[in-house]
Amino acid sequence: MADASSGQSADQWKKKYYDQLDQLEQKESEWGKLESLLKRTIGRLSLAAEGHHQSLDQHIRDVRETVREAVNTRRLESILEKLSANLAKIEEKSKAPPRQIISVLQLLTDTLELPASCRKEQEKLAKKLAKADDDSHEMLTREWLALIKSALQSQSPSQNEVVTEKEKKPGLLNRLLGGSGDDTNAAVNTVTPSSTVLAAGNELEIYRSCFITFLDKLDNTTSPDGRLAAMRVMARDAHERVELDKLSASLALMLSEVKSAPAATPAVTVSTTREATVKDDMPSIQELLIRLLEQLVVPQDLLADVEVMKTRLEKETAPSDWQKLLKDVAILINSIRSRMQQEKNEFETFLHQITNRLKELDTYLQTEGASLQKAEQTGKEFDNKINIGVRDIRNDMNQAVDLDGLKQSVQTRLDAISQHIMDYRSAEQTRIAEAQSSVSAMQSRMSSLEQETHNLKTVLVEKNRQALSDALTGIPNRLAYEQRVQDEIGRWKRFGTPLSLAIWDVDYFKKVNDTYGHKAGDKVLKTIAQLMAQRIRNTDFMARFGGEEFVMLLPGTKEEETLRLVNELRKQVEECGFHYHGTAVKITVSCGVSSFHKDDALAQVFERADKALYRAKKNGRNQCVIAAARSD
Ligand code: GH3
Ligand code: MG
Ligand code: MG
Repeated sequence: MADASSGQSADQWKKKYYDQLDQLEQKESEWGKLESLLKRTIGRLSLAAEGHHQSLDQHIRDVRETVREAVNTRRLESILEKLSANLAKIEEKSKAPPRQIISVLQLLTDTLELPASCRKEQEKLAKKLAKADDDSHEMLTREWLALIKSALQSQSPSQNEVVTEKEKKPGLLNRLLGGSGDDTNAAVNTVTPSSTVLAAGNELEIYRSCFITFLDKLDNTTSPDGRLAAMRVMARDAHERVELDKLSASLALMLSEVKSAPAATPAVTVSTTREATVKDDMPSIQELLIRLLEQLVVPQDLLADVEVMKTRLEKETAPSDWQKLLKDVAILINSIRSRMQQEKNEFETFLHQITNRLKELDTYLQTEGASLQKAEQTGKEFDNKINIGVRDIRNDMNQAVDLDGLKQSVQTRLDAISQHIMDYRSAEQTRIAEAQSSVSAMQSRMSSLEQETHNLKTVLVEKNRQALSDALTGIPNRLAYEQRVQDEIGRWKRFGTPLSLAIWDVDYFKKVNDTYGHKAGDKVLKTIAQLMAQRIRNTDFMARFGGEEFVMLLPGTKEEETLRLVNELRKQVEECGFHYHGTAVKITVSCGVSSFHKDDALAQVFERADKALYRAKKNGRNQCVIAAARSD
């Protein structure tokens, strides 16, 4: 029995052993397949990796050969270690900005076609760059840019040729990099070994880095306005080579424009459509500053300064102007800020004064209370003394034995009483005098406080008026609109009378500014605002919503009537007859109208009116469009 059972268990073990063996064999064959797959993959990867860097190539070949033979783990490990050390070094190098900058400078210096007058300098710089260590990249960048600047400023005929040549090519940087498309690679690859490494995968980065370095240095001296700053941002965000190509084309165009234009030529005078595109796409620093000033809430007494600044921003468009302008705008903004701070301080001082006066009043009332108490006490003491005096007289009379003695003692008592009365009266007089003087002091303090409060109230009313009205046009501003629209909606909900909303926008207003200047633009806005505001009913409301946009609230007017009214207003603007230095300037406006319907929220009505305005613009401008019926 025991034998039978032990034989059975041996069989079981044997079976288990064979099963394991089968599994192992299967695994071994899988490993074999995996190994050959890995070998093939490593082989292919190493082929793909070859040619990127000389120092890596030998290691890559070693890896390939080692895996092709029977894999010797030790040997493979040592090769892989060397390979990864080498890769780390290369990565470190490609990360190092100084080396990269020097490579880029070498690349640019070698491929640049400069006028003859600059060639000597160019060769000198090329030699320096060849020997340069990483620490000298800053100095060399400066020298390189000085070279480019002198090349750009050079007036020699050969320079003119360079400019004409530039105009033919797609872009300055393209040209600097040696042409377009594959030519660029060829040019890049012929330079130094380090730039070859960069060129292999980072052409866009080299391009971007050159462009930005170039812009950085040009910005301070050559930019006619702030367009270079905008270009820098666009270059930083560029994802494709074509975007940089476009930017370099714009830059080349701009540089030749700067070189050929007299210093005082305004940036606004654009002649070709291409130039216009460059200009339109990128608002200049001056334009941005004007828009910034338009957004500011300016204290009344600084309005004139802001106007002067806007005019300067329009006129001073020479290359070197914008830095000074920026500084002056900053100074102006600071004075606006400090004026507001000053007003705040004055208000705080006033509140302080009120607090102090109230404290004084409190102290006064307390001392008055104390002095009244004292007066009461004195009065009581006086009463007491008189009572005692009278009682003593009575006693004297009761006990008197002879008339002379009585006379004598009553006389003494009466003298004492009279003295008490005199003391009391004089103390009372002093107290009354003191009370009177402190009351009149308090009165004068109170009346000066009253005067100050009155002044402050006037100031606050004025400030409130200013806060709700638009400084340029004098009509209510957006804040006032936001308050008023809530009132009107409240009335519309309560009484159910119709309420319409109209949004206005001046047509092609940017062109007005660009052609006739900002001041003229401001005047147009002012005239339109006043003309319309005068024409509407007292119960209607008009506000400047922002920029060249206005909004109107027309209570009690249905959509169709509103459309009639706004069309009349539109015609009046069209026929208003604007002139600029004797030349007629046609100004038109477009309008979108919508009415409040049951359950409408303001946002919905506004959006409908805005869409209607958009249609008016799209249909050709100078028209008023009524909003489509609600979609619900
Ligand atoms: P559209 O017919 O499509 O409305 O064209 P547009 O040129 O009027 O529109 P866009 O929005 O391109 O330009 C509006 C211009 O209005 C640009 C801005 O400088 C100018 N602007 C905004 N506020 C003021 C201001 O207070 N004064 C002046 N002079 N111009 C202003
Ligand atoms: Mg607009
Ligand atoms: Mg407009």
